[in-house]
Amino acid sequence: MSNQHIAIIGAGTAGLAAAIVLARQGHHITLFEHVEELAPVGAGLLLQPAGLAVFAHLGVLEHALTLGAKVTGLEGQLPNGDLLVDSHYYEAGEGLYGLGIHRATLCYVLVEALKAEPLSSQITWRMGVDVEKIEDCGAEVRLYGHDKSGKCDAAFDLIIVANGARSQLRPADWVVLDKPYPWGAAWTIVPECLALDTQILHQFYHGASVMMGVLPTGAIPNAPKQRLSSIFWSLPTTQLNGWMKEQGAREAWLTRVNQDWSIAAQWLETVIDCPEQWFAANYRDVVMRRFAQGRIAVIGDAAHAMSPQLGQGANMALLDAWALGQAMAVNSQQPDWPTIWQKYHSLRASSTHFYQWLSRQLTPLYQSDSRIAGWGRDFAFTWMYRIPYVRKEMAVTISGLKTGIFTGMKMEDVEKR
Ligand SMILES: Cc1cc2nc3c(=O)[nH]c(=O)nc-3n(C[C@H](O)[C@H](O)[C@H](O)COP(=O)(O)OP(=O)(O)OC[C@H]3O[C@@H](n4cnc5c(N)ncnc54)[C@H](O)[C@@H]3O)c2cc1C
Repeated sequence: MSNQHIAIIGAGTAGLAAAIVLARQGHHITLFEHVEELAPVGAGLLLQPAGLAVFAHLGVLEHALTLGAKVTGLEGQLPNGDLLVDSHYYEAGEGLYGLGIHRATLCYVLVEALKAEPLSSQITWRMGVDVEKIEDCGAEVRLYGHDKSGKCDAAFDLIIVANGARSQLRPADWVVLDKPYPWGAAWTIVPECLALDTQILHQFYHGASVMMGVLPTGAIPNAPKQRLSSIFWSLPTTQLNGWMKEQGAREAWLTRVNQDWSIAAQWLETVIDCPEQWFAANYRDVVMRRFAQGRIAVIGDAAHAMSPQLGQGANMALLDAWALGQAMAVNSQQPDWPTIWQKYHSLRASSTHFYQWLSRQLTPLYQSDSRIAGWGRDFAFTWMYRIPYVRKEMAVTISGLKTGIFTGMKMEDVEKR
């Protein structure tokens, strides 16, 4: 295909990965990002094996491994010490693992790849631009926004919308559902937890209304020796702003955790000190009837935001970028957009719908006030984990490799360049 002028809106996981894939194909990329500078902010994420296959495809896996934390599995503990969730990546395939990584580190390894030769000459960075509107005019697609110096308006062959869950740029008639979740999480990042296995994502549940996570998070680029852990505490969104602000809140919370999980509470006592160290995470549920048409494509959370219960958001953003590259790798001189989007949807639609559907089924079992949901979950999952086929399918699901209940994708197909 002749080299296209492509605008990518949003320099998060999806936008940066798409920029690498498409610049490598020879296209000219302009990256529009709302913030002036990419700062080391954000929570820890768990990249699943499917996302790491995209990292291998992008050529950034080795770099990510030096800063991230290898994770071999997920263990979810009940108050009596039993493991409700006990899923390990080896059950999905030999040699598989996940990577706990700070969002800033994830973006850093992608940015470093973009700033290195030979890609750097094909990327134009437009930092500090707030894109407000896009318009497909048939022969071109236009973008309107503003930066510190005033309004900006530019035309491209293709616009990729990758500006996250709260995007106002996804075409309205493609959207089936766009609503906030009633529950979110308070989170903080602290020095690495050595009281628990450092290669496991630990979760703690009491009914459906109490959930805590401790995720190995590796290090950030400007302090590579300080290993970190992320702590997540599930809460209704109505309680997020006031979290830890009241006098005595820290002690009351530590006492609460200590009732069920004393090892975790003893460690928390040493790393939790002030309300300012906590941040709020709100989630959205976004469902689209299509992800691309004409000269516009929507990827990442902008296309399919969901609760992080299955830990797939960044993973899916990376798979979107990979699929864009596969769909755009055609031999015709001029792009045939309907054919390109047909290929893109064939690669991404079923997997995306599967994970969104499953996430919607599972989230109320972990984040709601329903007593029945918590009791039913504890009873059913305890039995389900005893069936080898189900254990394996759960591990494959967490690995991000499913495309439907009975179908999946192969790591090798994603990894190869
Ligand atoms: C607490 C929490 C835990 C999570 N845990 C996991 C996990 O374990 N595993 C996992 O895979 N995922 C996880 N996720 C989800 C994951 O963070 C997201 O799915 C992923 O980062 C989405 O990437 P994105 O590039 O689509 O969007 P974002 O990372 O949100 O990036 C969007 C970018 O667009 C920019 N932008 C926004 N509006 C504009 C505009 N108008 N003009 C220009 N730029 C704009 C923003 O500044 C931002 O840089 C978690 C999310 C949260 C909140």
